[in-house]
Amino acid sequence: MTHTVEELRSAFDAGVTKPLAWRLAQLRALRRMLTERSAEFEDALLADLGKNPTESQIAELGFVVGEIDHALKHLRRWLRPKRVSVPGALLPARASTLLEPVGVVLVIAPWNYPVQLLLAPLVGALGAGNAVVLKPSELAPATSAAMARFIPQYLDRRAVAVVEGGVEETTDLLAQRFDHIFYTGNGRVGRIVAAAAVEHLTPVTLELGGKSPVYVDGTVDVAAAARRIAWGKFMNAGQTCVAPDYVLADRAVVPGLTDALRDAVRDLYGDDPAQSPDYGRIVDDRQFERLTGMLGSGTTAVGGDHDAATRYLAPTVLVDVPENAPAMAQEIFGPILPILPVDGLDDAIRFIRSGDKPLALYVFSSSATVRRRILTETSSGAVGFGIPAAHLAVAGLPFGGVGESGAGAYHGERSVRTFSHEKAVLSKPLSPDTMQLVYPPYTEGKDRF
Ligand code: NAD
Repeated sequence: MTHTVEELRSAFDAGVTKPLAWRLAQLRALRRMLTERSAEFEDALLADLGKNPTESQIAELGFVVGEIDHALKHLRRWLRPKRVSVPGALLPARASTLLEPVGVVLVIAPWNYPVQLLLAPLVGALGAGNAVVLKPSELAPATSAAMARFIPQYLDRRAVAVVEGGVEETTDLLAQRFDHIFYTGNGRVGRIVAAAAVEHLTPVTLELGGKSPVYVDGTVDVAAAARRIAWGKFMNAGQTCVAPDYVLADRAVVPGLTDALRDAVRDLYGDDPAQSPDYGRIVDDRQFERLTGMLGSGTTAVGGDHDAATRYLAPTVLVDVPENAPAMAQEIFGPILPILPVDGLDDAIRFIRSGDKPLALYVFSSSATVRRRILTETSSGAVGFGIPAAHLAVAGLPFGGVGESGAGAYHGERSVRTFSHEKAVLSKPLSPDTMQLVYPPYTEGKDRF
């Protein structure tokens, strides 16, 4: 492993990754890999997560292709030095900022969107001109194997390496010196990554999770809201970092919303979601047991049935959930949606503020006051009005958390900036020497420089 990182560093030091032409060629090759090998990646995602191929196209392969196309279109402009103004006292002079690649970067990805979350950071890392070590999740083994097989076939092996493995291999990797570490996953491992990075003063981006709330008030079409919530929640069987974790609904809205969610689940996945080719499975037995252990957190209003052999857990809605129930004490990260009644916006804001800052917060309300107060009185990585999860598909929006939900952001131009150092450049002609005004001796009047 030391060997791999050293080889990448030699390539970086030799300037292999810096030319714009190389970066664009790598991005095009990555795009080609995703289109030419899309069947193999779809199969891997089906094997790992029971992911429907259309969903894989939308949320995994197509998502990355979209990021690549956006980068191919704009990269030249993003990399252009940016002029900044110079204070009058320093004139004549020119100042600018320049993005330079940081060196060799490490991307550690989780299992839930094992293509998107490994390759979307790669788009930024390559666009910024770095050498990259990719560490896919061992919990999505088919996708990890596909990455290890195809990445070296399509990308420049001198500058991009895939290291497969779990805790042991990642621990070894983290002992190496990188110039940036980009980690997506849970906060416990996030802390391990951050602690390892401190040894080498390596900057880190932490894309973590947490409980993303939804607030629904009485001003909206409950059926329409329920469809959006059910879609965002039950996609990938709830194993989505930006999935709605739980719903806070104005007390009077709860019965209607519960019924509407039941209808929405039926519309999306039919009468028996176990038979639906569009509904995913829980990634492994440990997660399955953790999730089924949460089913007793309230009264089952929708779903609840499950099968350990196939790791099937139905889209489930729970009501009468106490605030201290197991499902409210941890990120659910599965297809269980508790609905908690609140007494209006003040109560909802109090509840949201009593927890960690979420990765995303979703609001279904047509009231401008509600929207404004949510924006100014709560803190979260993102806010979605009327739609969960989709903000991550807007390349111009930074995607990331705050506090316990993460540090740093990426997507679009922000990805390139995340993997770059923004160098400050000041250039002042030697003559005329206006600096004479500040050189000692400090005669009268120089203090007004
Ligand atoms: P995971 O178990 O696959 O772990 C993520 C990565 O960390 C893997 O590559 C794994 O090998 C590595 N890892 C695990 N233990 C380690 C250790 N002790 N030392 C070093 N590396 C180790 O995935 P996960 O953490 O279960 O992912 C789910 C979590 O990720 C949820 O909390 C979810 O909200 C969050 N998430 C966040 C985002 C985001 O973009 N913010 C996206 C997806 C998931």
